[in-house]
Amino acid sequence: MDKTIKYIRSLISEKLIALVAFSPSILIPLITIAISCLVIYFDDKLYRQADQNIEKSYTDIQNNIAVSNIYRALKLIEYKNSITEKMLQEKVKTRVDTAYSVAKNIYDEYKDSHTPEETQKMIIDTLRPLVWNNGDSFIFILDFDGVFKLAPQYLRHLEGSCVIDFRDATGTEVIREEINLIKTNGGGYLWDTFTRPGHDPKLQFKQLAYVKNFGHFNWYIGSAEYLDITAKETEKTTLEILRNVSGNGNGYFSVIDRSGNVILNTEDTTLEGTNISSLRSTDGKELMEEFLKSASSSEPYFVSYKWENPKTKMIEQKHIYLKDIPGSSRMIGSSINIDNDLIDRKKKEVYQLHQAQSQNIYLTLLSFVLFSLFIGYKISQLLNRKFKDHENTITRKSNELLQLNHSLENLVEERTDELNRAYENMKKIALTDALTGAYNRNYFNDALYHEIYIADRYRAVFSLLMFDIDHFKAVNDTFGHDVGDLVLVDMVNIVRAQLRDSDIFARVGGEEFMIILPQTLIDESYELAERIRERIQDHHFTTAGNVTISIGLVSYRRHETFKSILKRVDVALYSAKKSGRNQVAC
Ligand code: GH3
Ligand code: MG
Ligand code: MG
Repeated sequence: MDKTIKYIRSLISEKLIALVAFSPSILIPLITIAISCLVIYFDDKLYRQADQNIEKSYTDIQNNIAVSNIYRALKLIEYKNSITEKMLQEKVKTRVDTAYSVAKNIYDEYKDSHTPEETQKMIIDTLRPLVWNNGDSFIFILDFDGVFKLAPQYLRHLEGSCVIDFRDATGTEVIREEINLIKTNGGGYLWDTFTRPGHDPKLQFKQLAYVKNFGHFNWYIGSAEYLDITAKETEKTTLEILRNVSGNGNGYFSVIDRSGNVILNTEDTTLEGTNISSLRSTDGKELMEEFLKSASSSEPYFVSYKWENPKTKMIEQKHIYLKDIPGSSRMIGSSINIDNDLIDRKKKEVYQLHQAQSQNIYLTLLSFVLFSLFIGYKISQLLNRKFKDHENTITRKSNELLQLNHSLENLVEERTDELNRAYENMKKIALTDALTGAYNRNYFNDALYHEIYIADRYRAVFSLLMFDIDHFKAVNDTFGHDVGDLVLVDMVNIVRAQLRDSDIFARVGGEEFMIILPQTLIDESYELAERIRERIQDHHFTTAGNVTISIGLVSYRRHETFKSILKRVDVALYSAKKSGRNQVAC
């Protein structure tokens, strides 16, 4: 039972209980800390994204501004170009219309009085002096066969010649086109290229021509103006406008031609007129190449570079987006200033905001962790208490079991003692005489058999003594049976006092007794027998007075039977009786 309890106790080992009870104190805060770490990690990640976005969104905004600036500038240039064309149209048409009126007037006035040739000469001579732009623009007349009737001063030698096959630099048969316009619409505009007075005759310049039918002579009158004259004027105003619209803090414009000549730089006008084709960034990038790539790219392509400002010798960060100006060899660029200070300020603001938020988050998380520590501790305490309660219950039950076990053992012990006592009593009852306490006949018989066996086996000796009370019948008769009983009891005590522990004393009949004396020869036995006889003889029994006994005494003879020795002792006793009683007979 004790072992079982120990086993149960070892199962509910204190360490295990402590571990289980303690685990919430560790696990709950650990989980909270893990969640907190995740929150901090994601918060930090968000901050980093925001930090990166500041620069990106700032650059994106600046880029968008640059793109829209370019878009607006190109619109302006386009508008200006259209104005240029309109202006050109107006100019040439007005001139032609004027020349036409002059010719018509001359014709009307002289057609009837003069020959056609005379009238024609008058018209040509009148119109020849009409020139503009220092002789760059003039009135020309051709007939429908392409024969020059009125040619500009520098081409006077061509008058009277057929120039119908003339092709301009682009391959257009200009004269045929003009005649075609006359025949189909009575006149119209035509873009072409043409040589120019005072210039290499191989060079041709773009011009807008206007021709008008002068059907009286199958002539057409025309005039043209080189584009660059008007274009230069409009470009001048365009550049002025660009110069004025930039400088609003969102960067600046620059116009560069494809050879790297700076036409406009609204930030640094001293760069205008310089050539930047060999410009390199501080890291050695060919910038012109990059500019050309940006200008011809269909998607906005920004060139970012650092360069050393030749004037200030400072390294500057540049960011430029360029676009080809349609119909020209130029490109317009919109530069934006990357304000790193502004970015840094914004970043700092976001950082400070993040710091403030983080502090709140940390404080909240800390309180969560502390709370979880508290909750974990409380749960641990609760578990500990529960475990302790269970342990106490188990200990109590174990003690109760132990007690029950002990009382059961005591009960069994008591019962065993009782049984032993009962057994001893039974044995005593079975083996002893109830009145005197001496062994009974049964015991005596067994003892005698045993003694005979020992004596035979080990060549031992023993003596057998038998005595009988003399005239005991008279004692009973005289004093009563009870007094007789008392005499028997007293007598047994007197005899026992003379015996050794090894001697076996038994009551074998009503007032007849046997004594086995192991290891005792006849002489010694005789002395004992005499001493017993005398003790009885000398004893004064209460009420009964003096009583004597007769004793028969024999020693065992080897290989003698049980019956034989009993017979012999009986004979000896009989002999003592017969010889007068109160004596020992051998
Ligand atoms: P003796 O032996 O000398 O020849 O004479 P006795 O009178 O003793 O004769 P005997 O031995 O034959 O008598 C036995 C008597 O012992 C008979 C009986 O009254 C008495 N007696 C036997 N057993 C008991 C007993 O247990 N108690 C008492 N009081 N008397 C007993
Ligand atoms: Mg007798
Ligand atoms: Mg007798």
